[in-house]
Formats: sequence, C-alpha cells, structure tokens
Amino acid sequence: MDIHELRRTVRGTVTTRDDRAYEAVRTGLLWNARTPDRFPEMVIRAMDTGDVQTAVRYAAANGMRVSVRGGGHHFSGIALQDCVVIDLSAMSALQIDAEARTARAQPAVTNGRLAAALAEYGLAFPTGHCASVPLSGYLLGGGFGWNAGAWGIACHNVEGVEVVLADGSLVTANKVENADIFWAARGAGPEFFGVVTEYRLRLHELPRAIRTSVWTYPIGEVQAVERWMSRTMRLVPRNVEFTAVFSTAPQPLASKAAKTISAVATIFAYTEEEAQATLERIAAGAPEGALDMQLGMETPFEVLYLIMGQFFLEGRRYAADTNWSADPARQMAIMSSAIEVAPSAECFALGVMLPPMDGAVMSDGAFSMVGPAFGCTYAIWQDETQDQAALSWVRATSEKISPISLGHYIGEADLDLADRSRRSFTPAALERLRHLQRKYDLGNLFHRPGIDVGSLRRAG
Ligand SMILES: Cc1cc2nc3c(=O)[nH]c(=O)nc-3n(C[C@H](O)[C@H](O)[C@H](O)COP(=O)(O)OP(=O)(O)OC[C@H]3O[C@@H](n4cnc5c(N)ncnc54)[C@H](O)[C@@H]3O)c2cc1C
Repeated sequence: MDIHELRRTVRGTVTTRDDRAYEAVRTGLLWNARTPDRFPEMVIRAMDTGDVQTAVRYAAANGMRVSVRGGGHHFSGIALQDCVVIDLSAMSALQIDAEARTARAQPAVTNGRLAAALAEYGLAFPTGHCASVPLSGYLLGGGFGWNAGAWGIACHNVEGVEVVLADGSLVTANKVENADIFWAARGAGPEFFGVVTEYRLRLHELPRAIRTSVWTYPIGEVQAVERWMSRTMRLVPRNVEFTAVFSTAPQPLASKAAKTISAVATIFAYTEEEAQATLERIAAGAPEGALDMQLGMETPFEVLYLIMGQFFLEGRRYAADTNWSADPARQMAIMSSAIEVAPSAECFALGVMLPPMDGAVMSDGAFSMVGPAFGCTYAIWQDETQDQAALSWVRATSEKISPISLGHYIGEADLDLADRSRRSFTPAALERLRHLQRKYDLGNLFHRPGIDVGSLRRAG
C-alpha cells in the first residue's frame, strides 16, 4: 500500500511532514506545552479499529516504526516520536451495562467523562485524579485512581482488552483468551507491544458520601504531619485516600508561611454516618498548629475534578517524576526541602500514603512495582527559558530520594532517564514483559522507552 492508498483506505486523517497542518498537528499531540524536538514521519488519526489495523500494517510494510498516542498526557511526551504516530483521540465510544456493572470504553474516553456517565447509574470506577486524562495510557500503565486503597490499581479493574498486534491482527485478551497479552496490558504502559483499542471495565457502586478534609501546616511541621498520616493509615478503613501536598502557601495563607504542607484526606464512604465516623478518627490525631482546616467538604467526583483541574492547568510546561519507597518519613523530608527551592510557585510534590496492596492481585499483571510510600514531584512553569532549571529541580529531587527509592511508576516517571522504565517493574515482571515483547513484536515495530528509533532504522 502506498501513501495515496493509505489516505483512501482510512476513515480518519493522514498528516505528513509536507502538509500545511503538520506543525499544528504535531504540537497538538501533547498536552504538555513543552514539546520535544521530535518530528513524526506521519500522524494517522484513527476513527476506528480498522484504521488502527491499516496504520499498523502500512507502517510495518514500509519499514517504519509506530508510536501510539492516546491523549498525549504523559509528562515526558513519549507519544511524540520520529515515526508513524497513531493517534487514538477520535476513538471515544462508551457503552455502560448498568445491570452487569460493566462498561466497554474506547481509549479516548476520559476520566471525567467516564465518572460522570457512571454516576448517572449510581456506579463508579477508579478513574484517575484529573478529568482530561484518557483511559488509553492511564489504564495501560496501571492507573493510580481515586479510592485506590479500596478499589485497587485501576488496571486490576479491567476485565479484558481488544488489541491490534504488530501484524495488524485484532485479538481479544482476558483471563482465558490470550492471557499473557492481558497480563501485559495491565501495567506495561509505554512498554506494551500492541495498540489497545478497547477496555472492558468492572464497575463499583458509587460512594454517595465522598468527603474531603484539608489541614494545612507550615512546611517545618513535616515530621509531625508524616507521623500522624502514617499512624492514621493503620487505623482507618481502606476507603481513605490520604495525601500530603508540598507547595507554595495558598494565597490566603501567604502572610503566615512561605511554603506549606497540606494533609488531604478524601473518604469514599457510602453513608454520611460512615464518613463522619472516619473523619473523627483521622482528625483525632491531627497535630496542633494548623494554619487552616477545612473539614468534611462534600466532594462528589465532579467537585474532585474541579479541584484537581486547578493544579494541572493546560498550556503550562511540565516535568514530573515518581518514586516508591519504604521510608515515608525520609521521602517526605526530602520533598519538603525540595519545595523550599522550587523554581516556580506553581511547582508542587505529593506524598501518597497507601494501605498494603493485596499480593495475589499485584502479581496478576505487569503493574508490579509498589511500596509503602509513593511520591511524585511536579515542576510547572510557563517560560521556555526556565526549562532546564525546572527539569534539573525534578531530577535533583529524585536523586536525593534515590538511596531509598524502590522504583518508579511508569505512568508519571521521567522516561527520558534510562532506568525509569526498567525500574517501574519488579525483575520478574520485567523478564516476562521482555519475553512477551519478543514473542509479539520481534521486529520492535512499536516504539518503547530506551529504543532509539533512528539507530534501529540505521541498523535495520
Ligand atoms: C494532568 C495529569 C494528571 C494525571 N493524573 C494521573 C493519576 O491520577 N493517576 C495516574 O495513574 N496517572 C496520572 N497521570 C498520568 C497518565 O495516566 C499517563 O501519563 C498516561 O499515559 C496518559 O494517557 P495518554 O493516553 O494520554 O498517554 P499518551 O501520552 O498518549 O501515551 C503515552 C504512551 O502510552 C502508550 N499508549 C497510550 N495509549 C495506548 C494504547 N491505547 N495502546 C498502546 N499503547 C498506548 C504509548 O506507548 C504512548 O507513548 C496524569 C497525567 C496528567 C497529564
């Protein structure tokens, strides 16, 4: 098939380097305003699974490699590569079977849309923390969603996937059919060796009393806050999400402290009484000296998404990295020192407390790297001349955490660093993944972290 036939065959669009729209299409691929200097040979915007199959076959037949783009939200911009980019953003069908408590979602369905659609049926899913992120890469990399303590990592709530493989064939993968592909589709993220064109989701009853409380302290109180948060996680039910936010003081508190640590507890309760009882247990241990307290706010999913949307504004430049560790106290101390020297007031870091994960569930998918504490550092800035300073800040913070780091989360890791992808998996999971990559994509058709497109093309 040549390019003319490709254009005639696909229902979607094909944009090549000599098209007038090329630069707008290229930069539009990423959500992050920081666009790497990488230039796709062409961008194929697929309208349906047939288009994805055609695009994969075209690339393979013409010796080109493929990069898959869901919503372009990965902070590292990994979807933008110098090869054929298959853009899935037009594939956004969603079907909900309320009685069976299942849903079928194409990759471009966003967290916000899914949560809103499910709420109408009194249902929910561990959607990610920001409304605009699509299921595409979110679920494939694991998915750290709302209420992860009770509902688990989002990919463990996936019951099956439809996948286009490197030969263009379409397969169904679940616990019984193509179980090894299904294993990989739950956590491989950018290391996956195919294109997921549909997810089948297992749904939950919607918690009717979601309540959020925030205690804000001067950053110097980090030790007391960490001790309280760690102790609290051993006392409360699994439906509590407790996160420390390290940031520049919010405006109303700016006269009292330059930098603050806010302990944010969201309780995913089913009744008012349950929410109140849990809040009382959390609040009982709160250290003295809070600059501000907001307790028991009603935060259904749409409100949670409005709040999170204020932290992650579109059009900003972003860099991020993650670390798992077994030492929340040390990790939080490092993050609090880091925020003191952040290159812009918008930068922040999160320290997430999680209850222990079920070992059996954790071994049932490529998502395998966890620890008692999870931290994420976000540099956010607007001026291109600050790129280097912002990136250096994120990297210096991770460097300080590295002696206690157990590994990373591929969904938000700094994938420009050589070890990030590899260290997002346990050694056993990585070995299995490498075996499956050879089995299903021996020619490395699909771009993966650490594989240099240019060198492969030269070699091949
Ligand atoms: C504002 C914001 C908030 C976020 N919040 C969370 C959060 O709460 N929890 C969390 O876990 N993560 C979160 N993330 C991270 C996010 O889930 C991942 O970056 C995810 O990859 C985004 O999905 P995407 O489809 O936009 O990825 P893209 O950037 O489009 O793709 C990244 C890579 O994933 C692979 N890929 C994506 N889709 C497919 C597919 N259908 N088939 C095959 N390969 C595919 C490709 O290798 C691609 O290069 C957040 C990111 C942002 C920007």
